[in-house]
Amino acid sequence: MHKHHNALGLAAPQGGVCAAVVASQRPVAPVTLVRPHAARRAARFFVEKFKGSSLYAVKANPSPALIRELWESGITHFDVASIAEVRLVASVARQATLCFMHPVKAEEAIREAYAEHGVRTFSLDSMEELEKILRATDHAADLTLCVRLRVPSDHAKLSLAAKFGAAPEETKALLFATRQAADALGICFHVGSQAMSPVAYLQAMARVRQAIVEAAVTVDVIDVGGGFPSIYPGMDPAPLEAYFDVIHAAFEALPVSYSAELWAEPGRALSAEYASLLVRVERRRGDQLYINDGAYGALFDAAHVGWRFPVALVREEASDARLTPFSFYGPTCDDIDHMAGPFLLPADIGAGDYIEIGMLGAYGCAMRTGFNGFTAGETLIVDDEPMASAYVETEVRPALPSNVVTL
Ligand SMILES: *Cc1c(COP(=O)(O)O)cnc(C)c1O
Repeated sequence: MHKHHNALGLAAPQGGVCAAVVASQRPVAPVTLVRPHAARRAARFFVEKFKGSSLYAVKANPSPALIRELWESGITHFDVASIAEVRLVASVARQATLCFMHPVKAEEAIREAYAEHGVRTFSLDSMEELEKILRATDHAADLTLCVRLRVPSDHAKLSLAAKFGAAPEETKALLFATRQAADALGICFHVGSQAMSPVAYLQAMARVRQAIVEAAVTVDVIDVGGGFPSIYPGMDPAPLEAYFDVIHAAFEALPVSYSAELWAEPGRALSAEYASLLVRVERRRGDQLYINDGAYGALFDAAHVGWRFPVALVREEASDARLTPFSFYGPTCDDIDHMAGPFLLPADIGAGDYIEIGMLGAYGCAMRTGFNGFTAGETLIVDDEPMASAYVETEVRPALPSNVVTL
């Protein structure tokens, strides 16, 4: 029998859904377990507690079933970054508002998005991109244009600071020119993914204030981007309410138009708890486990950025063996298909055992390739709890005093 425990003490029923899948199917290929109830809970949290619009960043997990689930739970806006994502969301949620928030787009993609899919919101971080958007839309008068500012990624586990964003010395002219062209002017940024402290947003909002004051323009939209964290081993961030409080207070204090809107672009936070993966151990060599998914499958981040996803042994009979650190090898034939972990599993684990790897709904299942012929097996819908959750009642998960930010 396996039990899931997380920071919150949530536990799966004895035996659990995964054990039942293993007992009845002994699956040969990795099984994706999806939890629609967890996605609905995350969406409702953002809809109810974030005082603005939450745009789901589709790249975190573009599964049509998830997009539909979020749409039906009140997420009306979607952050799309490619023409394929535009077409996908337009086909799955026809009434959704699409925002094309990649600062470097193909001109053809902008043209199609505007003319055929009703996209009116675009981001940019250069004069060239502004001119491109205006050309591609034949100087449309109904554009919401968001200028992306470069902000530090100091508090994030994955940086997004180097590639995009206008530098401080560029923003004045860019904001001024964009104001002339736009029906509504926005400012956006991204603090980096898995931002471990709300201070990241406080610092970024200070940069926004400075940019607005310098350019002396009227701003209609403040978009605080993504970066909202989930819970992983060794990463237990402050509650999301603490992030929202910081953002709400900073937004209220900005010199923006009276009717200005607040937006966010959560990707990870809306999707991480949606999916986990059931893998099989094919071989054990000391403290290394050869499993049937890896760097080219759903475990890219585990391999390339050393992300530690939660794991649990799935057996009909519980193991009493002590928890021991293991690393994983994936199924392809090269050395870099390696996940260092450490992943804590019972010392008696071996070939033929199954492991559930949790919190793979964001940047896990989305990044799978078919390299070397290893592809995903079945997808099953389950209703047990994810291995961790950021969305339980505050009475269950008290705020950590050391993580609370006071303004
Ligand atoms: C990736 C991305 C997001 C989502 O980021 P998370 O850290 O997953 O919340 C939001 N906006 C933009 C522009 C992105 O590139």
